Amino acid sequence: MGQDISRRAFLKGGFAAAAGVAAGSIPGAAAAVGPEEQTQLATLLDISKCIGCGACVEACTETNARKYPNPKKPFPKMVPARARVSDWSDKQDVTERLTPYNWLYIQHASVDINGEETELTIPRRCMHCVNPPCVKLCPWGAAKQLENGISRIDPEICLGGSKCNAVCPWDIPQRQTGVGLYLDILPNFAGNGVMFKCDRCYDQIEAGQLPACIEACPEDVQTIGPRADIIKQAHKLAREINGYIYGETENGGTNTVYVSPVPFEELDVAIEKGKGKPHLAAASDRMADANTLAAAMVIAPLAGIAAAARKIYNYTRKSKERA
Ligand code: SF4
Ligand code: SF4
Ligand code: SF4
Repeated sequence: MGQDISRRAFLKGGFAAAAGVAAGSIPGAAAAVGPEEQTQLATLLDISKCIGCGACVEACTETNARKYPNPKKPFPKMVPARARVSDWSDKQDVTERLTPYNWLYIQHASVDINGEETELTIPRRCMHCVNPPCVKLCPWGAAKQLENGISRIDPEICLGGSKCNAVCPWDIPQRQTGVGLYLDILPNFAGNGVMFKCDRCYDQIEAGQLPACIEACPEDVQTIGPRADIIKQAHKLAREINGYIYGETENGGTNTVYVSPVPFEELDVAIEKGKGKPHLAAASDRMADANTLAAAMVIAPLAGIAAAARKIYNYTRKSKERA
């Protein structure tokens, strides 16, 4: 197996064993890399292997549908009036972009490889940034980063204000109106909904299982393991195929790392981009910006208080419902 953290190795021993393999198999790794490289779980996606079958997209929906929104209609009047309704509940079968009901989709790129026109397919979902602006800048503390690097949005706390979407370099979180806490406490204000995105199947990982999209892939496109190992594997693969890496440094580094046989600038031109269709262009480190850092420092304590208040509110509400 060498330095590979294969699907089988992950399944057999879970994250703890995978992390152990990483530390043991890379001499000096602990001293050479930051703490995130040891504790955060990353995935490597080998674009050249993907056949665009969509099994990963189907598996994501099957596994995570229970987390999808179930909005109450009619929606309360939006205030201010310019606040837009974002309703995907009648379009749950849309799979050609990210939506609150579709956390993974397949992008297509027609590119020239050695003089031959080749169709590449690229699974896209949250990049799971090492230092995620969506988490650091959420005013309500609804977006969280787990110790293993996974970022997720707590639907019990989120008010749908879309700050996470605004600060995300890839426009990942998507809003659904008519669901969540705002209905009870601020029916006409706040963000009018909840934000949704890939949570990297955090609950499956906690149970020692693979994320559904990785498990379902017939081509083993994805590999999961400690970030230090995944970055090493990405470089090895890139050397082998004379390819390119995306995610090692973008937005300061992400835990979704792509290797492509063609430059990402070329892929970015070839893919369809827009709302819910993330780019593959350069992305500078948003959290390194002095203003952003200052904003995060101001928000952190407020978010903590807001999250605590909302938890108490939720607890009280549920207790009343049970009584
Ligand atoms: S299941 Fe695997 S091969 Fe099929 S689209 Fe997804 S990543 Fe590509
Ligand atoms: S890609 Fe966007 S939503 Fe995902 S962790 Fe990074 S900032 Fe957050
Ligand atoms: S990791 Fe889980 S939630 Fe994220 S895209 Fe894959 S199956 Fe969906």
